[in-house]
Formats: sequence, structure tokens, C-alpha cells
Amino acid sequence: MTKVDDIQENADTCLKFCGPCLTYPGIEGEALFCARGKSSAPKAKKGCNCGICDIRKKYGCQGFYYCINGVCE
Ligand code: SF4
Ligand code: SF4
Repeated sequence: MTKVDDIQENADTCLKFCGPCLTYPGIEGEALFCARGKSSAPKAKKGCNCGICDIRKKYGCQGFYYCINGVCE
């Protein structure tokens, strides 16, 4: 069970960080990987902006690359 709330406000914040990320898969409708799980078409790691994201900090998430690894537990 993820600890990040799957709400629109969090998805909006997410796209400020995931959106410009070089690893962002860019699949229509996908965001908030730390809550919703990995992308349906993950890309190779080219950096991860989650480390500077307010959501990751707020919910005390560990790790990075949620679009590849899945939810923050
Ligand atoms: S921690 Fe990463 S996946 Fe989660 S909201 Fe922030 S940028 Fe998006
Ligand atoms: S989860 Fe991390 S690596 Fe994936 S798109 Fe978001 S910021 Fe980039």
C-alpha cells in the first residue's frame, strides 16, 4: 500500500518535476508514479527529479525512479 495520496493536487505537483525529467516516459495520463505505480512503458534511467519534489519529502518516501520501480512504500 502506497503512502502517497492519489489526488489531483499531488498529480499536478508531480508533473512539475516528472514532466521535465529526461526519464519521464511521457505516456498520456501517466503521473504520480510514487502513488500509482510504475509507467506502462518505462524508459532507461537518465536522472530523476523526485529528490527535489515536495511530495516525496512530505510523505517521507525513500528511493527514486518510481516510474521504473513502482510506488513509494
Ligand atoms: S516523488 Fe516523483 S513520482 Fe512522486 S510526485 Fe514527486 S516527482 Fe512525481
Ligand atoms: S519518477 Fe523520477 S525518473 Fe521517473 S519521471 Fe518522475 S522524476 Fe523522472
